[in-house]
Amino acid sequence: MIATLLRLLALTFALIALPAAAQVVADPAPPKPVRWSIAIHGGAGTMSREAMTPEKEAEYRAALDRGLAAGIAVLERGGTALDAVTAVVITMEDDPHFNAGRGAVFTWDGTNSLDAAIMDGRARQAGAVAGLTRTKNPVLAARAVMEKGPHVFLTGEGAEQFARANGILEVEPSWFYTQERWDQLQKLKAQKLSAYDVDHKYGTVGAVAVDSEGHVAAATSTGGLTGKRWGRIGDAPVIGAGTYADDRACAISATGTGEFFIREGVAHEICARLRFTGESAQVAADTVMLETGEMGGDGGVIVVTPDGQAVFSFNTPGMYRARANSDGLKEVAIFRDDGPGGIAPPKVLAPAPVTPPETAPAPKIEPKL
Ligand code: ASP
Repeated sequence: MIATLLRLLALTFALIALPAAAQVVADPAPPKPVRWSIAIHGGAGTMSREAMTPEKEAEYRAALDRGLAAGIAVLERGGTALDAVTAVVITMEDDPHFNAGRGAVFTWDGTNSLDAAIMDGRARQAGAVAGLTRTKNPVLAARAVMEKGPHVFLTGEGAEQFARANGILEVEPSWFYTQERWDQLQKLKAQKLSAYDVDHKYGTVGAVAVDSEGHVAAATSTGGLTGKRWGRIGDAPVIGAGTYADDRACAISATGTGEFFIREGVAHEICARLRFTGESAQVAADTVMLETGEMGGDGGVIVVTPDGQAVFSFNTPGMYRARANSDGLKEVAIFRDDGPGGIAPPKVLAPAPVTPPETAPAPKIEPKL
């Protein structure tokens, strides 16, 4: 009797102490292992059927299909997870539908400033770049950093010099221009809006995969947030925040309010939960996304494990997402109700981290002579 009471008490305390975990669905039966598996995303956000024409929806589904096909082609012929995620992200960077490479959002100064990261789960090697303005495919620059240089993270002109020296293709900055993104910046400035108000769809692209050898890899690429200033960098290129891969646990790519994903260390946190708690990928991802939501952040993640689980978790109304595996699974989804992965939205969404200058005037600095 006393033992039962104590057990009940312990359970009550556990439920009070773990509000996020308590909302997470129970682990399903483990899936049967597959030869390879891949998941991709093109950003999370306020996608709704009302705000999207059937033509636009079809365009996005086709764009996701093209990205997925690029990864499947590599994995089907026995290629590595690293090559598969690279192929997906190149395809999506070249596609103006997404906020990465061509089609990236504009900074406050009217430029495109591109960030990317890649990680190989075999030896936890990683490469990242931020603030690129001319490199056509930032993911290739990140991969060159990982494979050909002594560092992990390069920024700005130096990163571009390194990419150039390693034969990565450069283009005129106008290559990245799209009318829609330019108009979003003009609207943000004219109406003193935040990045969330002009387009609460993050649009970052990412891919995670496990290959037939059981190795995982992750890659993420983004233009960041519309109207970003002061050299702002989000989570996408930050290893452990927006991108992580570890053969002992999983590979992750994230999209959302970068500031919160950095503070939570989302990608590493999910991998750590997998290693230390034995949770499934879905439970670990949902738990960490709920915690991120409790801080006021929103967005989503894609996760692949060495045994082939491929899951999504997002706390926004939608997420451009797709997955496939060697067992014939192939799935493309946009909204919360047309595919898996949606969890409870944040109770309070923090204000957009990048605000127009009128709310924060730059101090006038005079030289002291
Ligand atoms: N996470 C990205 C950032 O904060 C934005 C996005 O996901 O689109 O830069």
